[in-house]
Amino acid sequence: AKKEGGGRVCLFDATLDAQVRERRMLESDLRTAINRGDIVLHYQPVMSARTGMVSSVEALARWEHETRGPISPEVFIALAEDSGLIDELGRKLIFRACSDMLAMPETMRVAVNLSPQQFKSGELVSTVREALKRTGLAPNRLQLEVTERLVIENTQETFAQLEELRSLGIQILMDDFGVGHSSLSYFQMFPFDKVKIDKSFIADIETSKTARAIVEAVIGLGRQLSMGIVAEGVECQEQNAVLSELGCTHLQGYFFSRPMPLEEIAQFVAKNAH
Ligand code: C2E
Ligand code: CA
Ligand code: CA
Ligand code: CA
Repeated sequence: AKKEGGGRVCLFDATLDAQVRERRMLESDLRTAINRGDIVLHYQPVMSARTGMVSSVEALARWEHETRGPISPEVFIALAEDSGLIDELGRKLIFRACSDMLAMPETMRVAVNLSPQQFKSGELVSTVREALKRTGLAPNRLQLEVTERLVIENTQETFAQLEELRSLGIQILMDDFGVGHSSLSYFQMFPFDKVKIDKSFIADIETSKTARAIVEAVIGLGRQLSMGIVAEGVECQEQNAVLSELGCTHLQGYFFSRPMPLEEIAQFVAKNAH
């Protein structure tokens, strides 16, 4: 029995070692991809429930690995966060999103996702200012999406940066609301412009009374606090109808469109915006 136990430990070590090596390789590929500008942005439209037109687009990072094919952003963003590459990647994506917007009508806004780590260096605000200045994009055309992972730490410096970004005219959105440890007290700490209800609730809205009640409660809260409410992950007409009826102000999901490369979204926007 003793030997067997020892053997298992050995086997475990070998697997772990392979995993570590695999990770280092991907990390090194990621570093190269960031430097070469191989990580690109696709854009998904966010529709106004009132007008049925596109009101903004969300920038979503894409990495097509040379040999492995597409790697999910869930994977490479987490890797960039863990390996200290997120600042560099995040900076490039902010610049890219701002300059891509120049191909769209002046009424169109773009939402960029931020990792909590990007608030750590203290350079986020100056990076954003620089991107706006260099591209000439009006600050009110930029939205930044943050998750509770940022707010949960609740440090003074974080909120100071959010306030400063907001004072520039940028909108701040709370993403993925309702999952994890989301708390209503976040809205007391910072006046978010919009709240995005996590797609897990939208997926269940027709079948689960609880999911529907949660969505209704968040919409009610949004009304009281003058926050727009975005439902994400809308995949069919039934969900679209329920959400519009409940009073969601904005809708996003495959029902309207998948995320697309710049050229395609620019065409979509030209056809579906004011
Ligand atoms: P997220 O910010 O919650 O983005 C929404 C995700 O839902 C995207 O996945 C989008 O493609 C997907 N989605 C959109 N409509 C539907 C739908 O109708 N049904 C379903 N099932 N999914 C839908 P994606 O592009 O794979 O991104 C995953 C996550 O990776 C994002 O979640 C975000 O947390 C992160 N991410 C992506 N790009 C960036 C980035 O540039 N910076 C940072 N920090 N994170 C990013
Ligand atoms: Ca998002
Ligand atoms: Ca989300
Ligand atoms: Ca998410």
